[in-house]
Amino acid sequence: MTDRESLLDRFVRYARIDTQSAEGSTSYPSTAKQRDLLGSLVGDLRAAGLEDVAMDEWGYVMATVPSNIPADHPAHGAVPTIGLLAHVDTYFDVPGANVKPTVHRDYDGGDLALPGDASVVIRAADEPALGSCRGMTIITSDGTTLLGADDKAGVAEIVEAVWRWKEDPLRLHGPVRVAFTPDEEVGRGTEHFDIGRFAADVAYTVDGSGVGEIEDETFSADSARVTVTGLDVHPGYAKDRMVNAVRVLSDLLMALPQHRTPEATDRREGYLHPVSITGNVSQAAAQLLVRSFTEDELRQLERLLTDAASWAERKYRGASVKVEVKPSYRNMREAISRRPEVVEYAEEAVRRAGYVPRRGSVRGGTDGSRLSERGLLTPNLFSGGMNFHSRKEWVPLEWMGAAVETILHLAEVWVEKSRDQGSGIRDRGSGIGDQRR
Ligand SMILES: [Zn+2]
Repeated sequence: MTDRESLLDRFVRYARIDTQSAEGSTSYPSTAKQRDLLGSLVGDLRAAGLEDVAMDEWGYVMATVPSNIPADHPAHGAVPTIGLLAHVDTYFDVPGANVKPTVHRDYDGGDLALPGDASVVIRAADEPALGSCRGMTIITSDGTTLLGADDKAGVAEIVEAVWRWKEDPLRLHGPVRVAFTPDEEVGRGTEHFDIGRFAADVAYTVDGSGVGEIEDETFSADSARVTVTGLDVHPGYAKDRMVNAVRVLSDLLMALPQHRTPEATDRREGYLHPVSITGNVSQAAAQLLVRSFTEDELRQLERLLTDAASWAERKYRGASVKVEVKPSYRNMREAISRRPEVVEYAEEAVRRAGYVPRRGSVRGGTDGSRLSERGLLTPNLFSGGMNFHSRKEWVPLEWMGAAVETILHLAEVWVEKSRDQGSGIRDRGSGIGDQRR
């Protein structure tokens, strides 16, 4: 089997396994079925000759690819340990069981009809990126489910890369740690992730989208809770006495700038997003998400909220309004900018794989934003998949192949740079090695 066909075969096999995560679940992983794929990955990594292959009590699978740098090579012992991560779970809100991967060979540039549901058509006119995929092999679902290229493309690419290392000892790499994780889609992917045990110096999630993309920036996120305390009295005798918390809170939320919501913002604009509301006349509360790429704007958005709270207290005599803000995760950009080489080497790897690197920002968080905050710098590499969280997901096999090549080149770039710079590279930068142990 050629490399391409074995990558296709592997991806299709993973895509067929139902690994949907569940919001609101209190167990970990959020669904037990994620262990089906995690367990079979343990076998696949052992077959590829990795060491220390293990699944822990939470379901995290970790393994080591030992360095293959010869003892007389100038970079021997000097290359930092690179981590590669991908998540096995699929999005909770689109059907993810009985996925039937559908392979469209020699794509002709037209619309992609999906065999399981005539109403689901991937239209070339809606997908500018499809234009560059003529002649490629495109994989979709049959239209009744998502495909799960998010992130089984990343999983398959990492496993394929470790096979290539096994089969071609001339492709040099330092020590590499691999991790497959559950529950990324429900925002709990790193909840029990043991950074110390993973023991990588820097890491990359392979969970991005179009070919060549490298994401080194995410939102900074807080959550806010606004609680209004009013005064309930019998409505028949309420004149000049009742303070209705329901009305105060509604008024307060509508007084927030309506152009700073998710519906009204894009690119680099942050937002205030009320996501739930509960209450009665005596007390009402709203939960909001606060999102921005900068700490300044985050504070500014939170000030809008506290200003609205004071305004409501002045307008409604007797009402008291409390605003509580909790930090959630932080933009990885700041941490990563202290070690620019982590992203620069990835850009070089994309170029060597034959594509143009493009830096992007995620209007959300990734497992990498949480890991970067905890000291393990983790930008996001493309996996090749498009239209994530949709029954119209598609991924070109050639882009998946480019992701495998990018991983292989990335390890080689780290070897070359470590050779050029001597072993000092290990001690420079964030000092995560020290924090960890
Ligand atoms: Zn993902």
